[in-house]
Amino acid sequence: MLGLMQNWPLLAYKIIDYAAQQHPRRKVVSRSIEGPIVETNYAQLRNRALKVAQRLVAHGIRPGDRVATLAWNTARHLECWYGIMGAGAAYHTVNPRLFKDQIAFIINHAEDRLLLLDTTFVPLIESVADQLPTIERYVILTDKAGMPKTALINAVAYEDWLAEADGNFSWVEVDENDACGMCYTSGTTGEPKGVVYSHRSNVLHSLIACMSDNFRISSRDVALMVVPMFHANSWSLAFSALMTGATLVLPGSKLDGASIYELLEKEKVTFSAAVPTVWLMLLQYLEANNLELPLLERVIIGGSACPRAMTKTFADRFGVDVIHAWGMTEMSPLGTFCSLKPETKSLEIEAQYDLKMKQGHPPFGVEMKITDDEGRALPWDGKAFGRLKVRGPAVSSAYFKGAGGNILDDDGFFDTGDVATVDEFGYMQIVDRSKDVIKSGGEWISSIDIENIAVGHPDVAEAAVIGVRHPKWDERPLLIIVPKKDRTPTKQSVLAFLEGKIAKWWMPDDMVLVQEIPHTATGKILKTALRDKFSNHVLPTAQEPAARTGS
Ligand code: AMP
Repeated sequence: MLGLMQNWPLLAYKIIDYAAQQHPRRKVVSRSIEGPIVETNYAQLRNRALKVAQRLVAHGIRPGDRVATLAWNTARHLECWYGIMGAGAAYHTVNPRLFKDQIAFIINHAEDRLLLLDTTFVPLIESVADQLPTIERYVILTDKAGMPKTALINAVAYEDWLAEADGNFSWVEVDENDACGMCYTSGTTGEPKGVVYSHRSNVLHSLIACMSDNFRISSRDVALMVVPMFHANSWSLAFSALMTGATLVLPGSKLDGASIYELLEKEKVTFSAAVPTVWLMLLQYLEANNLELPLLERVIIGGSACPRAMTKTFADRFGVDVIHAWGMTEMSPLGTFCSLKPETKSLEIEAQYDLKMKQGHPPFGVEMKITDDEGRALPWDGKAFGRLKVRGPAVSSAYFKGAGGNILDDDGFFDTGDVATVDEFGYMQIVDRSKDVIKSGGEWISSIDIENIAVGHPDVAEAAVIGVRHPKWDERPLLIIVPKKDRTPTKQSVLAFLEGKIAKWWMPDDMVLVQEIPHTATGKILKTALRDKFSNHVLPTAQEPAARTGS
């Protein structure tokens, strides 16, 4: 017997319909690419998104086509995003931090027909335009006055292009399982692979994100969407802010401490989400200028591990609650949130900070398991660690055009490539990426654990740990440090700081100071580049017979 409920398809453009109807005058504030901070609202955003859809259809865009954007978080980008899916096409948010060749590769692989881009990226695209045969038109996200001189063929100023539509249009009807958007993985190993989101997966994922243990977002919030739309759907905020009617603040291209602080302050932001690097810049700026954050209530930190010191500074110094989160492009991207379950509420404050270093527990809609290399499930005791695998309605079943072959195990779980523990309360903790874990004498050392602790040293701005070849133990950890401005931490003081906080045999065998640590297109430490750079590094322990001091 079938249920007798209406078949109301889960279409992602219904989210902007809802925002425009229920929260029409809620503000959307952007730091424009031209410079000034500009304001619109959800009703106007929807009207312009309808024009985008109409203009795309007039161009000949049909359901299933891909339309690329190469843009920062602004209202223009957001109206394009909804307009593209409203035309029945799939938005392809290109990550400008990918290497030039990768950008050309993914645009070609996706067979994007149009590219909508910020003026900032015109020189970048000019330099690869002759490798982009599928692009029929370049729409530059500015008006006539802001239009740069460009060699791009068939380029048009967005406002002129949009003026050719009157907005008298209805969204193109599609199935909820149809493609809605695309995002490529950052391709640290091999070519980037295309992840294809459906309308249904985006709507379900956004509903999940809004729940109280997760974003806890409402129409009373002012949400600063720092995480870029080209980084896995801006962790769903481009949907969930509209779905709840929150005021939305968009930072454009300026993510430095001063610019983020200006928006937090001016717009009375209560909620935000970004990677640790962005928060680090903000905290340094606050410290240097002796500033407070009286209105900010909570921040989501993910994309890479959130150091304990960061959670503590936010809470103790600024009264801001940190919700550590984990996920990946293939998971739309949210997978776990570290909110406190009642059984953990009685923990002492320091123990709560320890718990908050974990990546958290999955919400409804994400199933999780850890297995050994043979696929056997491991216990949830907080100690056993193995491959982290996930299943759910917003998790990839395959990559675009079948890249990488079958990506699911026999039970339909996707291997995340992360190594993790899960404790008795269901809290997951990432131990490492399976390829970054340091294999010392047959045992595993977590590079992430050491990095997290090292950044708590008062003279350390950023830390990375990699495995370096060792004649006796195969690999031993090398600690790479970016010092804070005008500081020179010694190896002795950093190792003394680590002592007692990690097992003795995890202690790095050496430490080097560098000016900069390379990052991937999504802001993670680029371990492959560090491994290349230090491949010939000779550890002081390499000649000693007993490098390992105990186990
Ligand atoms: P991406 O698809 O670029 O978002 O990268 C996903 C990967 O980032 C995950 O598989 C993890 O290795 C890493 N990652 C994301 N969030 C966290 C976190 N909170 N802690 C540690 N690693 C993380």
